[in-house]
Amino acid sequence: MIEKLNPPQRQAVTLEPSHALVLAGAGSGKTRVLTTRIAWLIQSGYTSPLGILAVTFTNKAAREMMGRIGAIMPIDTRAMWVGTFHGLCNRLLRAHFRDAGLPQSFQILDSADQLAAIKRLLKANGVDDEKYPPRDVQRFINGSKEEGLRPGDVEAHDSFRRRMVEIYALYEAQCQREGVVDFAELLLRAYELLSRNEPIRTHYQRRFRHILVDEFQDTNVLQYRWLRLLAGGGAAIFAVGDDDQSIYAFRGANVGNMADFEREYAQGKVIRLEQNYRSFGHILDAANALISHNDGRLGKNLWTEQDAGEQIRVIEQPTDQAEAQWIVEEIRALVNEGRERHEIAVLYRSNAQSRVIEHALFSSGIAYKVYGGLRFFERQEIKHALAYLRLMANINDDTSWMRVVNFPPRGIGARTLEQLGDQARTYDTSLAGAVARVPGKGGSNLAQFFRMIERLADETRAMPLPFLVEHVIDQAGLIAHYQLDREGADRIENLNELVNAAAAFAAEADMLGLPSGEVVARQVGDPADAQTMIEVSEGMTPLTAFLSHASLEAGDNQAQAGEDAIQLMTIHAAKGLEFDAVFMTGMEEGLFPHENSMLEQTGLEEERRLMYVAITRARERLYLTLAQSRMLHGQTRYCMRSRFLGEVPDEHLKWITPRQGIPRVLPTETRWNASGSDAFARPATGRFAPAAPRSSSSGVMVGSQQYRVGQGVRHPRFGDGTIIGLAGTGLDAQAQIQFRDVGQKTLALGVAKLEVIAG
Ligand code: ATP
Ligand code: MG
Repeated sequence: MIEKLNPPQRQAVTLEPSHALVLAGAGSGKTRVLTTRIAWLIQSGYTSPLGILAVTFTNKAAREMMGRIGAIMPIDTRAMWVGTFHGLCNRLLRAHFRDAGLPQSFQILDSADQLAAIKRLLKANGVDDEKYPPRDVQRFINGSKEEGLRPGDVEAHDSFRRRMVEIYALYEAQCQREGVVDFAELLLRAYELLSRNEPIRTHYQRRFRHILVDEFQDTNVLQYRWLRLLAGGGAAIFAVGDDDQSIYAFRGANVGNMADFEREYAQGKVIRLEQNYRSFGHILDAANALISHNDGRLGKNLWTEQDAGEQIRVIEQPTDQAEAQWIVEEIRALVNEGRERHEIAVLYRSNAQSRVIEHALFSSGIAYKVYGGLRFFERQEIKHALAYLRLMANINDDTSWMRVVNFPPRGIGARTLEQLGDQARTYDTSLAGAVARVPGKGGSNLAQFFRMIERLADETRAMPLPFLVEHVIDQAGLIAHYQLDREGADRIENLNELVNAAAAFAAEADMLGLPSGEVVARQVGDPADAQTMIEVSEGMTPLTAFLSHASLEAGDNQAQAGEDAIQLMTIHAAKGLEFDAVFMTGMEEGLFPHENSMLEQTGLEEERRLMYVAITRARERLYLTLAQSRMLHGQTRYCMRSRFLGEVPDEHLKWITPRQGIPRVLPTETRWNASGSDAFARPATGRFAPAAPRSSSSGVMVGSQQYRVGQGVRHPRFGDGTIIGLAGTGLDAQAQIQFRDVGQKTLALGVAKLEVIAG
């Protein structure tokens, strides 16, 4: 195992236990070194598997690492703590829920849940959401937590910030009342638990003698503090990373941690790896050339023994649909050549791009799997089902309560819910806790819902997880509801897929070392370490474990297990992975680099690092694709080529389509199909129907109201305007409206209180 390594890799693997930093570029074997070192530490007798704590960047990476270690040596990987920061913190908090001040069955809010909870909070407290937009509040709260700051610690110099801090405090109280934690809270709680509770801290400090961290460049301030705390008892931290691949600054990642770590811990123990084993020459040289446009790098150059290989293929198509179609045909050719589907990846900068590609793949019958991104667990019907399951685990989870109390409809109206909310506030309870205080018919409907949840929890107590999930989906009336819906078939299929996901989870939990069985109270700790043994209950029911998994790993399980599938993901999700062939799509200004990033140098440099990550995922073949016009967020935009294409030397590129014929339009300019017949009008294939002012039949029915492009409408808050685009049907119908006073807005027709005033 060690003989296969090159000399610097070998040196890193076999360092005597001490802090060390491996600083090296993409594909140079950092992850391999880290995995091999774990095996080496165990085999050389420096530690038992229990003494290892390894942090990976994704759950997928954690699984792979477990698999690799399990393949090298016959040990019980369940006992090892290998996972993401969030996964490990979850495990810690589950084990010590009481000391952490949490209910045993606490639920995890993903970022969409969190946003919904914030909206609810703002509303309940009469906060003006124009002045304090929910997303800004969310960013403020998460940003504070990532710096380790509770409301009392945040400095507030002006009234605006003071109010933000108040909202933060209210939000905390709400979460505590409901027994839920968001992602940032997982980290902060776990940090506080360790820093405040001496016996627990000492226990883990003695237990984990070796802390290994992959993708160290993307740790945030709090994660780094958490690591330092754990290592405080003399453990050795072995970190590997690449400053050129730091791509999570927007979520608080602090590449400065690398320099700090070197100064504080790893002085004189920095190992550089320069040989790349992943990519052929053209690909590697292109990546090196591109990243050299960034300033302030720690500096390293990669070389390879492999030959130049093929040039990078660049394909430009007139529309995003044509781009997707081209990719699908190329994929078909690759598969016909005998390539495995899971060795082919399609990457994109923004999630919104995936739909068109998914659609093209789906229509061609090519199996694909979406990682992260368009998350299975974030789909409406899945969230509904999970909300029932969550309520069964924790009836005080108000977010879930609000989601399904009247879904499927059971006659519980807005007024009743308002009353319920008022009562809950008055008596400072959860919504469920206030049910008995609501009078009349509304109150009895609520009580009936409450009893149904109780009944479901009772009935399913002894059921294996997949049966439990199936039972609840059925009994809650979700299947029956979607059967009535014209477009419900997909949703029912997804709900069935959730049952499969539960089955797969139960089967996989063993391998992952997640608690999957009955509630257990057992002792965990290195036997050699008996005096500090602590009573730890890793007491998660299978359901709670599954719900944590659903929140933490949104999206990972949607493909059929074992099916060979094309891999779709954002570049962010592709970090650390490698594929024989990679399609990097949407190489357009405004999309990549993303328009939000182009104002600042730092933003642009982060985009360039993303591009570097994208290029270096490919082993043999890389495609860069772009479209001259693209439908995004319901608008057609005309695109210029990404500047990154110009930053790769021509000798590495091979243009497959002629270069001419790109309309020179500012990248940020967007036009509606509806805006008339300009020279760039495109075929009516997008999400939004084209304007057809003369044909009144192109409208959308919502309830009994027909909406059409060109119609004059009135909104209670935005005033008068004209519909300029329509999309979707039924509950999903949306309209793009040009308001006279407030500009364009996209509104959901099912909920917006619109009055048709003309046309
Ligand atoms: P990234 O920065 O993208 O995370 P990395 O530095 O972690 O990359 P690895 O994923 O560990 O790189 O390795 C890249 C590829 O090179 C893997 O397929 C790995 O098995 C292979 N590899 C690494 N070292 C060697 C070696 N000494 N001999 C042969 N192959 C190697
Ligand atoms: Mg790696």
